[in-house]
Amino acid sequence: MKLADVKRRALVLCLVATMAVPAAGSETAVRITPDQSLSRLVAGNQRFVAHKSTHPHEEMARRHDLASSQHPFAVVLSCSDSRLPPELVFDQGLGDLFVVRVAGNITDAAVIGSIEYAVEHLKAPLIVVLGHEKCGAVTAAMSGGAESKDHIQSLVDAISPVVAEAKKDPKDPLDAAVRMNVRKVVGELAQSEPILAHEAKEGHIRIVGAYYSLDTGAVTLLGGSPVAVAH
Ligand SMILES: [Zn+2]
Repeated sequence: MKLADVKRRALVLCLVATMAVPAAGSETAVRITPDQSLSRLVAGNQRFVAHKSTHPHEEMARRHDLASSQHPFAVVLSCSDSRLPPELVFDQGLGDLFVVRVAGNITDAAVIGSIEYAVEHLKAPLIVVLGHEKCGAVTAAMSGGAESKDHIQSLVDAISPVVAEAKKDPKDPLDAAVRMNVRKVVGELAQSEPILAHEAKEGHIRIVGAYYSLDTGAVTLLGGSPVAVAH
């Protein structure tokens, strides 16, 4: 193949790739892949870390476009902690992220139902479970102690299955618990019938765990297998 042909083919591939990632929220939005979605989040977090956030999709036209429909390109299940708002941390705007926030980024029926809605009806291809450094809910679970009658106890109960194992970590048991809790929740979502488990098995969605550093603003993906904890 001549050099000119190679260049032409590369250009066509580039254009096709660009077309496959339309502006989220557009009426003509084509479903992007889970990996494309993840790349978009990673790039946004890199801008945030470098203090180069572009604050996209805040303009009035965007607001008007979204009034009739939404096509968020990712679901983020994050802790409610005021220090990690997903739209800021990933440098995204209106209509980009379907965000579910609860202290300790735990699951319950309402959380899973919200995520199912985003996956089944809005066709979001990626779910990110975002835990973070020095999480108060995880700290409460690690402290243990007598059961209290307040509703915070329900958060503690959800996180407590990872506590015993995390306490074996010689370096930083709290940080280990944060990461294990994220993996546990990823596992719960991946096994959730009838929608999330099926969609993940079919390759329509990807479910990943991530950790936010309060110090650097960086989001790190947590590799390894999801932690399955028997309840
Ligand atoms: Zn937290």
